[in-house]
Amino acid sequence: MPASVIDGNKISQEILEEVSQEVASLKGPKPTIAFVRVGEDPASVFYVGKKQKVAAQVGIESKLNLFPKSCTQAELCAAIDVLNADPAVHGILVQAPLPDEMNEQEVFNRVDPRKDVDGFCRDNLGKLCQEDDSGFVACTPAGIVELLKRSDVNTEGAHVVVVGRSLIVGKPAALLMIKKALPGNATVTVCHSRTKDLGAITRQGDIVIAAIGRPGLITGDMIKPGAVVIDVGINRVEDATAKKGYRLVGDVVFEEAAEVASQITPVPGGVGPMTVAMLMSNTVKACKSLQGEQSLAGKL
Ligand code: NAD
Repeated sequence: MPASVIDGNKISQEILEEVSQEVASLKGPKPTIAFVRVGEDPASVFYVGKKQKVAAQVGIESKLNLFPKSCTQAELCAAIDVLNADPAVHGILVQAPLPDEMNEQEVFNRVDPRKDVDGFCRDNLGKLCQEDDSGFVACTPAGIVELLKRSDVNTEGAHVVVVGRSLIVGKPAALLMIKKALPGNATVTVCHSRTKDLGAITRQGDIVIAAIGRPGLITGDMIKPGAVVIDVGINRVEDATAKKGYRLVGDVVFEEAAEVASQITPVPGGVGPMTVAMLMSNTVKACKSLQGEQSLAGKL
C-alpha cells in the first residue's frame, strides 16, 4: 500500500487538546452547547451522545433538549427561539435528520447565526461565500480543511474534485477549496448524481473529496496516481462476521485507492472524528464572540 493513511483520530485529538486548553484559559462562564434531538433515531442518539461525551472531555457544558417525533415544526422552532434568547447557551445544534414532515433548512435557518455552530443557516453559508471568517463553517468541511492542512497537502493551484453537492458537505467543501487563501486557491470541479463519466473527472483530481453516501462508488481506477483521497462517506454494509452484523465503509474502495493514492483517509477514523472536533472548536468561537458582545454592551 503506497499511500500513507491520514489519521483523523490522531489529528482530531490534537485539535481537541488545543480546544481544551483554550476552554481552560477562558474567563467567565464555560462554553455551552445545546443539542436538539427529535425522536429516537438510533444514529442520532449515537451521534448526539458522542458529541456530548467529547464536549465533557474538553470542558464544554452541554444541554440535551429532546422532542417526540410527533412534535410539530412550529413547536420545534419555538424551542429554538428560547435557546436563541438564552444568554447561557452559546451554541445550538439541531441533529439531522428531522422527521420527513419538517423542512430541515427552515429549522436550521431558525437558529441564531451567532449560535449556529453547525454552520447550516443561510447567514453562515453566505459568509462562507463572502469569505467572511466571522461566520461558522459546517463542521465536516471545516474538518476536511484541517486534515489537509495538518497533513501538509498543498492545495495551491491543485485540481480538487468534490463528489457530492450537499449543503452540509459537498458545496461548502468546494467553496473552501476555492477560497482566496490556503488551504484553498484550488481549481475545483464539483460532481454529483447527474455527472456523466464520473471516473474521467475524478482521474483528473490531485485531491478527491468523496461525499456521496454510496459504499465503494469510487474505485481505485478512478484515482490518479499520487492523488490525495478524502473519503467522507459513512455507510453501513452487512457483514455476518461483524459483532453488530454490519461494518462501516466509505464511498471509496479503500484497499484499491490506497494502492494508487499518495495519502488517503480511512473509514472509520478519517473525517468522522474531525467533524466532532470542529464542532467543539466552533462552540468555543461562539462563546468567545458572544461574551465579547455582552461585555461590549455592558460598557455602552
Ligand atoms: P447527501 O445525500 O445529502 O448528498 C449526496 C450527494 O452525492 C448528492 O449531492 C448527490 O448528487 C451525490 N451523488 C449521489 N449519487 C451519485 C453518483 N452516483 N455519482 C456522483 N454523485 C452522486 O449526503 P451528505 O449529507 O452530503 O453525506 C454524504 C456522505 O457523507 C454520507 O455517507 C454521509 O453519511 C457522510 N457524512 C459523513 C460525515 C462525517 O462526519 N464523516 C458528515 C456528514 C456526512
